[in-house]
Amino acid sequence: MASIFDTINLHNGVKMPAFGLGVYKVEAGEQIEETILTALDIGYRLIDTASFYQNEEGVGQAIRNSEIPREELFITTKVWNSEQGYDNTLKAFDDSMEKLGLDYLDLYLVHWPVKGKYLETWRALEELYRKGRVRAIGVSNFKIHHLKDLLAHASEKPVINQIELHPLLSQVELREFCQQNDIKVEAWSPLSRGRFFDEPVLGKIAEQYGKTPAQIILRWHLQNQIIPIPKSVTPSRLKENADIFDFQLSQKELEKINGLNKDQRFGGDPDHIDF
Ligand code: NAD
Repeated sequence: MASIFDTINLHNGVKMPAFGLGVYKVEAGEQIEETILTALDIGYRLIDTASFYQNEEGVGQAIRNSEIPREELFITTKVWNSEQGYDNTLKAFDDSMEKLGLDYLDLYLVHWPVKGKYLETWRALEELYRKGRVRAIGVSNFKIHHLKDLLAHASEKPVINQIELHPLLSQVELREFCQQNDIKVEAWSPLSRGRFFDEPVLGKIAEQYGKTPAQIILRWHLQNQIIPIPKSVTPSRLKENADIFDFQLSQKELEKINGLNKDQRFGGDPDHIDF
């Protein structure tokens, strides 16, 4: 990983940026448009939104305002829990595409594994993929048992599983399962929203490289073949989070960071979602 423009190969041959911008809680309107334009200037090419974030229109507007060719961008959105099921998902996709104002999507994800529904939702994603409306399809918040169930019923394998992942929740078993099945792992809350930047292990490594704890965490993701999508609306932080391609953590340092794991979730447990 030597540049913000580096990509990874998904199992269907599509290239995806190895690093991106998450826009959960970025306000619709001016804030999202400015944030994305700043990010694109810095070199971000992957934007992760969702119908649930209610800012897809702003994402689309920012794309149209930018001079970067559409094919150089990689846009992800997701079908929300209340939109799941076969017909509802097809409709939700159309709604998202209308809001985004795009001809095609790069990646569509099942946001959470809603019990009794996600297989039907997946069938709709397969249909959208076959019709060429989306270049790749994947899931989010799937545990191993959800993936096993999906793989047993699906005709298309997901390219990605986007999960809560940071040094306090390193998800080793799930990552191994995904790797064995050629499913890439994308990290949401890659910085666990800044909750443990004062951790001395990170502080020491950060000092050594003249970097910040946030940058050390993001570099740990990259070197573990995890795609991080940190969120910020602050230009200096957008820059800081992307400035992680000029140093390399040693094996020993990676292991020290691995040692911080506490299996600690800050977001919902996919087996117990009530939203
Ligand atoms: P994150 O770990 O990216 O943390 C973002 C927060 O950390 C910011 O709001 C800011 O307060 C702080 N921060 C960011 N950069 C910083 C820096 N350099 N220094 C200090 N503080 C900094 O958490 P997130 O927003 O929850 O996750 C990122 C993205 O993942 C979201 O925007 C969204 O796109 C996606 N997401 C997906 C799901 C899902 O269920 N699939 C759930 C949550 C988030």
